[in-house]
Amino acid sequence: MKSRSFKKIRFIRPSLRVVVFLLVFVIGVVPSMLITSGVLSLYASRSIRSDVTNVTNEATLLANQIVTSGYLSDTSQDSMNTRFSSIGNAYDGRVMVINADLKVVKDTYGVDEGRTIVWSNVLVGLNGSSSNYYDQDNSCITVTVPITTITEQDEREVVGVLLITKSTDYITQNGIFFKDVVLEIMLIIGVASIVLGIILAGRFTEPMHRISKSIENVQNGVTEAVMVDDYTETNEISKKFNAFADQMRSIDDSRQEFVSNVSHELKTPLTSMKVLADSLNGMEEAPIELYKEFMQDIGNEIDRETKIINDLLSLVKLDKSGAALNISPVNINDLMEMLLKRLKPIAEKQKVELVLESFRPVTAEVDEVKFSLAIMNLVENGIKYNEEGGYVHVSVNSNHQYLFIRVEDSGMGIPEDSIEHIFDRFYRVDKSHSREIGGTGLGLAITKNCILMHHGEIKVHSTLGQGTTFDVRVPLSYIEKEA
Ligand code: ADP
Repeated sequence: MKSRSFKKIRFIRPSLRVVVFLLVFVIGVVPSMLITSGVLSLYASRSIRSDVTNVTNEATLLANQIVTSGYLSDTSQDSMNTRFSSIGNAYDGRVMVINADLKVVKDTYGVDEGRTIVWSNVLVGLNGSSSNYYDQDNSCITVTVPITTITEQDEREVVGVLLITKSTDYITQNGIFFKDVVLEIMLIIGVASIVLGIILAGRFTEPMHRISKSIENVQNGVTEAVMVDDYTETNEISKKFNAFADQMRSIDDSRQEFVSNVSHELKTPLTSMKVLADSLNGMEEAPIELYKEFMQDIGNEIDRETKIINDLLSLVKLDKSGAALNISPVNINDLMEMLLKRLKPIAEKQKVELVLESFRPVTAEVDEVKFSLAIMNLVENGIKYNEEGGYVHVSVNSNHQYLFIRVEDSGMGIPEDSIEHIFDRFYRVDKSHSREIGGTGLGLAITKNCILMHHGEIKVHSTLGQGTTFDVRVPLSYIEKEA
């Protein structure tokens, strides 16, 4: 099957400095732009509204004068014609008087007189209502009001329509003037935003640069810790980095210690073998018994070297395959019985009584091999660090959630100040004694690793000269923890 290749999308990673700068600029300029355009359109609509009101009032007044002066029957009245002209001039517009037959009887422009005009707003006027219209393209408003008389029957009669047009050019001109002023103000705001943006961007990002410089210094060993205290966030980053650096240092320390311990432990049997071999070689005629005895010792040292290497391999394997547990439901009672059966010969040799007590049948989800290794080490220690006539009691119990295993011995106990170290790699309370009985100092480290891998817990309680108790607790069901 052909595999499809996807192109990786590359994002441009912007600098924080640029982001802060743009943010300040946008926050400075955009609102002032919006406010300006809002104010301008508000000014225009308010001016038009107030113009409509004023012109309508003027037109209503004029419509009354048309009636009282009898203008519709005599359009040659100078006083009225002059008034129409002066209003037309004042408004930079036009005044039209239309009679009930829709005929224009007066037009201050003089172009439509005598013509019939059929326009919706005029018709509205003939129906007795005022109306207005804003013509944005020609930049003017037109107001129409009915010309009404009162008949002898005291009824209102529409005898014509007065139409007044007023230019709104001044609004456009004022708008242009305002726009110029606003443009100047915006220019000032824009420049101020750029300057402020540059200053703030520098101020905000400067601590980041210091953090990065400090981290570099820590990496190069110039300083031990990072501390940039300017903001809560930089303080937090500094603290977290320091904690991480400490952790790395302690991992590095313990790795170095481990390596030196390993080399030392591996060298000891080799040194012994070298001494034994050299002394045999140095003898002219060594008796065969001495050869046999030395070869026996060399064999023991080889066994010891092999055990150390095997323990180390187990430990490295556990470290490496943290997630690789082979989990399955295991009958713990049967497993314990089998393990103790395997250890019985060693216990008998040491004259130590080995007892298994099962409080209830328990099945738990564990990795049988690794779990067995952990428990074997504990029971083996109970036998090894015991004395003739002593005992090792192993008990199995559970509740609805956990499996409990207790390994209790009547041995020599562990000094209080050693308890916190016994799970460390290569730690032995009494090096020579442990060596004598074949200890490597790795058993409890292996045990602890195995138990932790099962998300369990191990605790120790010991009284010097009386005995030691190890308590192991492991969940009955293994739940994979998220990485
Ligand atoms: P070792 O291979 O030396 O037994 P371990 O890691 O198993 O290494 O144990 C570390 C040390 O803890 C031992 O050397 C011993 O001193 C002490 N220790 C462990 N288990 C017991 C015990 N049951 N009683 C007394 N001391 C113990």
